Amino acid sequence: LGNSLQDALKKLVKSGRIDERTVNEVVKDIQRALLQSDVNVKLVMEMSKHIKERALKEEVPSGMSPREHVIRIVYQELINIIGESTDVPLKPQTIMMIGLQGSGKTTTSAKLARYFQRKGLKPAVICADTFRPGAYQQLKTLCDKLNVAFYGEEGNPDAVGIVERGLKEVQKYDVIVVDTAGRHSLESDLIVEMENIHAVAKPDYKLLVLDGAIGQQASEQARAFNESVGISGVVITKLDGTAKGGGALSAVSETNSSIAFIGVGETPNDLERFEPDRFISRLLGMGDIKSLIEKAEEALGDEELDVQSMMTGRFTLKDMYKQLESLNKMGPMKQIMQMLPLGGMGAKIPEDAYQVTGDKLQRYRVLMDSMTEEEMLNPRLIGSSRIKRIAMGSGCTGDDVRELLKYHKMMQTAMKGFRGGKFNMQKMMKKMGM
Ligand code: GDP
Ligand code: MG
Repeated sequence: LGNSLQDALKKLVKSGRIDERTVNEVVKDIQRALLQSDVNVKLVMEMSKHIKERALKEEVPSGMSPREHVIRIVYQELINIIGESTDVPLKPQTIMMIGLQGSGKTTTSAKLARYFQRKGLKPAVICADTFRPGAYQQLKTLCDKLNVAFYGEEGNPDAVGIVERGLKEVQKYDVIVVDTAGRHSLESDLIVEMENIHAVAKPDYKLLVLDGAIGQQASEQARAFNESVGISGVVITKLDGTAKGGGALSAVSETNSSIAFIGVGETPNDLERFEPDRFISRLLGMGDIKSLIEKAEEALGDEELDVQSMMTGRFTLKDMYKQLESLNKMGPMKQIMQMLPLGGMGAKIPEDAYQVTGDKLQRYRVLMDSMTEEEMLNPRLIGSSRIKRIAMGSGCTGDDVRELLKYHKMMQTAMKGFRGGKFNMQKMMKKMGM
């Protein structure tokens, strides 16, 4: 699966430009990956629409390949839904756990206590699960092992009363985690119980705990809990297994909250802060997507500029394209051009010479593909009838061709002011502290 997405992205590399068919293929593969990871269909469709629109409309930033550009868009659109990791302040607070039975509330309560304990805060846990037999023992055992303060009343069915008394008992602690009972499904008595506990606990933070394998039910659960007590953040558990946690995205989008933690095992240490990048890589079945994007964003070519051809009086369109391409890989045109000793050599560089974006480069290339070898070497041969033909042959306008020719002329003039030997771009950049 991951491979098919990779293959689709490879097509972008081959074609060298972003056309509708390639984008559709890539989007289809992304859809497949997300749906298999349990992401809600509606979310997937919405996102696909955005990705398509942006991939076809936005210019490829200079220094980025079409493939990197599309990956970046996919990433940004996913981040849009997933959100950044919730801020978990390290301060005194009361946290209420919410979720169905078996989702991992009790385990996560202990994990949270451990988390804050490691950060130097004093945690305490209250057991308000009076529903599940053995709930008291389960939590007490976990807390004892961690040396975490625990409050519970074994056998007493009054969850609200337990919370009330528990809060008084543990008020000198920094972070108080209130573990609650769940049910096998969303039942009205569960919602009422949550509302009652919520009223006395007055939690600063309400964590919805979801099993990573949850599918489309995530949406309904999140909505129900959010409408009754409000959800501040989400924990996705059991991500140490094969589940990808895509269902939880519905919960996030439903509640306008974000993911705070993920559970990656059964022991109290198996809790991690949520990292969107890793999560997205996993959803898409791709390697480390963030570092891929970072690499693309800082793409600095390390080619040595072949200045020789710039300086022989014959500066052809072909040369120009080659130069533009290598300059373009190194970053914003203006920055690079300003570093070249052109100005110092008396060449005047018009402001438009800096405005060559990746998108324009692509267009230039298409145009040049419609030119003859002779025209490439000697653009002066290109008259108005040829301009028309080149435009037609490349699906561009006559103005596009004229713009390219004008640009070439401008560059040629600038190059004339450029005398001197071969130099190494990288060395120069280093010298200038880049
Ligand atoms: P609760 O009913 O919501 O309180 O759920 P529990 O905390 O009792 O967890 C239910 C089961 O899931 C237990 O067997 C836990 O050990 C297990 N569990 C919880 N979180 C994780 C996790 O992140 N990874 C794995 N592998 N198991 C987990
Ligand atoms: Mg429990």
